[in-house]
Amino acid sequence: MEINKNLNKLASLLLAKSIKDLYPNAILGDFKINEDGFAYGINFNGEAFGASQFNKVKKQMQKNIDRAYKIEYESISKEAAKQMFAGNKYKLELIDDANGNINICKFGNDFVDICENLSIDKLSTIKAIELNNVSGYYWKGSSNNDQLIMVHGMAFDSQSSLEQFKKELQDRSERDHRKIGKDLELFTFDEIVGQGLPIWLPNGQSIKSEVENYILNLLRQYGFQIVSTPVLGSKKLYETSGHWFHYRENMFTPVEVDNETLVLRPMTCPHHLTCYKYRPRSYRELPFRIGEFAFLHRYEASGGLIGLERVRQLQLVDTHILCTPSQMKSEIKNCYKIIKEVYKTFGLTVHSVDLSLHDPKNTEKFFDNPKMWAHAEKQLRGVLKSMKIPYKEMVGEAAFYGPKIDFQFKTVLGKIITVSTIQLDFLLPERFKLEYKDSDGQVKTPIMIHLGSLGTLERFVSVLLEQTKGILPLWLSPIQVEEILVDNEKHAKYAERVANLLRKNGIRVHIDNSDERLSKKIFNAQTHKTPYQIVIGDNEVANKTISFREYGKTESTTIKPSQFVTLLKKRIKSKK
Ligand code: ZN
Repeated sequence: MEINKNLNKLASLLLAKSIKDLYPNAILGDFKINEDGFAYGINFNGEAFGASQFNKVKKQMQKNIDRAYKIEYESISKEAAKQMFAGNKYKLELIDDANGNINICKFGNDFVDICENLSIDKLSTIKAIELNNVSGYYWKGSSNNDQLIMVHGMAFDSQSSLEQFKKELQDRSERDHRKIGKDLELFTFDEIVGQGLPIWLPNGQSIKSEVENYILNLLRQYGFQIVSTPVLGSKKLYETSGHWFHYRENMFTPVEVDNETLVLRPMTCPHHLTCYKYRPRSYRELPFRIGEFAFLHRYEASGGLIGLERVRQLQLVDTHILCTPSQMKSEIKNCYKIIKEVYKTFGLTVHSVDLSLHDPKNTEKFFDNPKMWAHAEKQLRGVLKSMKIPYKEMVGEAAFYGPKIDFQFKTVLGKIITVSTIQLDFLLPERFKLEYKDSDGQVKTPIMIHLGSLGTLERFVSVLLEQTKGILPLWLSPIQVEEILVDNEKHAKYAERVANLLRKNGIRVHIDNSDERLSKKIFNAQTHKTPYQIVIGDNEVANKTISFREYGKTESTTIKPSQFVTLLKKRIKSKK
């Protein structure tokens, strides 16, 4: 559900008018609209203002709606606007910054503000208002300026729309991977370590290891060989690949060591090409498929860092294929199959598929070779069409070396991000002078395909958490079984024996022997979304059994520990 922007603009004016009624000394700044509603920045001139005043303000807003003002829009000269808003330094600045005439909106003769024509002539169009937050900010974002209070709210044309939107907001906050990461103790960031550098806590690392094992195993099934190459690369390596000229702004500053200039690598492609070049290759060795679970470093502006979604150190399951022209299509199709299998296993829903093309006008970002681009783009388009995959063409979104098929996901913040990608590249093999001896005895240049099957692990986990609300399948759960003791002393020995049996069988178990009451322990296991809870009490010890309960179910079952192990192992293996 999307908010009505014009209605929310009018509501922000209504808020401003109502605040001026209640706080005559307040000075109005400017207002903003975003996908969550409206926000008005106000200088309360030293008077305290917080959420406890919301009711009073809302009542005043309703009073103003009931006054049935005539809403009028006008366009006036800058000079006239300056006279009209004389005494409000913020509005005068906004007028100064504007080009041409100033649009204003009047509530009868009682109130006027700077605002374009909203095509709404009655305040009564606003049927439901919610004020939900206040925050501090500096005028125009500069700490040299005044600090204002931003009052946030949202407006709707019906009460039911407001209720529905509130439900959606609640759902979004429950899905926010940053919140889930905190609740489930998966990852954290610490200023002392550095911005955008994720610290994976034991629970998060557990998920990461499972994903890593899964994907490396899948890649091996598709004929990939796994390598391990350094996190550093020489400047010369990136000059050869072209990253130095087209990707420099995303790279960390290099360091000088002895006679070398080294840089933290942003991608593994050039390293992987050196694996191919290690010795002469024959056509019989193609397709040459290699992969790595690689640490990469990319410079992101500090303002752009978002949880695990945008970080400065990332782990990418990076894979490359070198093949002959006749193998290219089937290799791309295989890449697509891998990606589809990943999404199916994790139950992820793709938002859209983009064919990312180069922008011929931007020769700084994209390697300048029109013929190469035309050929490569035609090939990828052809594969998408032959596989009947619906896609959108996006000009200017290609990699500097070639076009790509991007698999896009929508985050809870409404952003569209790329998770998986298949890229076609005629450039790097040429720049690195890669060769193979063909069946006709001639030496030829192979074609390169870059595959990011699940993208960066950080981004993948963020999407996974948002789409599952952190309720992970058994095989991925950091703690698969929570063992709850009715009596910490009496039942400890037997509980430890059961836990050891589970651990020996590769099942992740945690014993809750805290001082909490039994009901609280059960509640905690529920909030941590642990797939299984087992309770150990007198009966279980006497009969050498366990009583287990599955997440989301109310009934519990009593069985022998060995039967429980068999049940879990079967479920873990099926990845369901
Ligand atoms: Zn690559």
